[in-house]
Amino acid sequence: MIGDDGVERCVFCGAEAAGPCASCRRSVCGDCCTLTEGGAKTWAICLDCDRKGGRSLAGAWSGFGIWLVGILVALGALVALLEWLWPTR
Ligand SMILES: [Zn+2]
Ligand SMILES: [Zn+2]
Repeated sequence: MIGDDGVERCVFCGAEAAGPCASCRRSVCGDCCTLTEGGAKTWAICLDCDRKGGRSLAGAWSGFGIWLVGILVALGALVALLEWLWPTR
């Protein structure tokens, strides 16, 4: 047997880990992580955190969409109100 003391194992597949996940610090191998280029440093993000990150990003975008729709509805209501108060003809 190979003495694997001190060898980090990937938490997903058990292969030799390439490094820790930048988010949760669990060891992952090259196959079970996504590399994210952020500035000068390349981050390894495990599949779990990648999924969670994708979800939270989608949530942020849908929140932005709702906010934008809210502004448009408010503007539309304001225009309708002005039109009602001061008809153009
Ligand atoms: Zn793996
Ligand atoms: Zn992670």
